Amino acid sequence: MSQASNTSFKFFALGGGNEVGRSCHIIQYKGKTIMLDAGVHPAYQGMASLPFYDDFDLSTVDILLISHFHLDHAASLPYVMQRTPFKGRVFMTHPTKAIYRWLLRDFVRVTAIGVDSTLAAEESLYTDEDLAESFDKIETIDYHSTVEVNGIKFTAYHAGHVLGAAMFQIEIAGLKILFTGDYSREMDRHLNSAEVPPQSSDILVVESTFGTATHEPRLHRENKLTQLIHTTVGRGGRVLMPVFALGRAQELMLILDEYWQKHSDELGSGQVPIFYASDLARKCMSVFQTYVNMMNDDIRKKFRDSQTNPFIFKNISYLKNLEEFQDFGPSVMLASPGMLQSGLSRDLLEKWCPEQKNLVLITGYSVEGTMAKYIMLEPDTIPAIGNPEINIPRRCQVEEISFAAHVDFQENLEFIEKINAQNIILVHGESNPMGRLKSALLSNFSSTKGTDNEVHVYNPRNCVEVALEYKGIKVAK
Ligand SMILES: [Zn+2]
Repeated sequence: MSQASNTSFKFFALGGGNEVGRSCHIIQYKGKTIMLDAGVHPAYQGMASLPFYDDFDLSTVDILLISHFHLDHAASLPYVMQRTPFKGRVFMTHPTKAIYRWLLRDFVRVTAIGVDSTLAAEESLYTDEDLAESFDKIETIDYHSTVEVNGIKFTAYHAGHVLGAAMFQIEIAGLKILFTGDYSREMDRHLNSAEVPPQSSDILVVESTFGTATHEPRLHRENKLTQLIHTTVGRGGRVLMPVFALGRAQELMLILDEYWQKHSDELGSGQVPIFYASDLARKCMSVFQTYVNMMNDDIRKKFRDSQTNPFIFKNISYLKNLEEFQDFGPSVMLASPGMLQSGLSRDLLEKWCPEQKNLVLITGYSVEGTMAKYIMLEPDTIPAIGNPEINIPRRCQVEEISFAAHVDFQENLEFIEKINAQNIILVHGESNPMGRLKSALLSNFSSTKGTDNEVHVYNPRNCVEVALEYKGIKVAK
């Protein structure tokens, strides 16, 4: 990437360009450099999971903003802070930082023991010590507050998606850029939907996960989910729900706990137990309890009225590991990781998938190259994690109902129109859905073509620069 000239704005994806995973984008304007997110790619391990950090001089970065705690947005941060020439300042919201600490400790442990025993210690990205040292250097930002770091102003807005997720509006010499991170516009059980910043933006960097696809209404999805689970346990089957430990899992638990309450005669009192196999989630419940004030009115009202915390579930118990699990009769198991790459959810998949009456229910977004993506093709067999030579028959039912909390096409389009930016840069989407979104946006804005207000849409690949001229247009206030 060439040195930023004074008049051109430059965008450069080190990861998350035409892919979902390892999000990391660089923006440059008027000699300032900002890095957006620092994730890993869930389909790869070790160094291969990192963004293309070698392609950019990280020592030039002024600030690094982390949108939310998901691994594809935050998990390479300790690596950046401890193992590269990066020396800028790092910002995230309070809940993101609180969860980040526990989450990455778990991540270090999981990657260190590895799926792949050939992944030696030197291949692990960072250690617990790196994590602890980096943690102390991370600064926090409140929603709706603006921070200024040598001429770069930035403000955090609610993004929905998961607790603590933020959109950042960045302003350099009058030029305003909005970065959505992952966002949702649908009100859910505990989070507010993403907000439209009061000030307009010149450039929008927006996720394109679902491309031009349409979500079914939320109530339909909830009913489908509870019906499917009820039917499965009714025939004596086990339900495996692979989930990412934190974030959307808590939303699913709110749905299931309420449904079990309503059908307590059939399901309650341990007749059909629900387990959440995650020690991490148990540790992090205090974070959810602490930040109820950052959630929506619904859950705050429940909290006030009942004087009990809605995240203390009546029908769900935590499991530390599978050794303490008595696998008799029907049950519902939420287990991580969400894409069945390794660990507990993978062990249960291999144990339960030969049985026809069991159900694997995918509720998150599954990245290309992961087992969660593969299982949805309903293969006859799957390779055993411990020994890829062994094939395990797959007879169980496989269903997908999305609770991933990303915008669908209509929600994305409405938001994009409200932002009213003349330059739109698409990130965080596989090539095909992103390409379809680009075409749909261009046709939506076709009336601006050839005018001074022409809307431009870019879908750059990793390490391909987008340069925009803002010669003399913007005057710093
Ligand atoms: Zn996310």
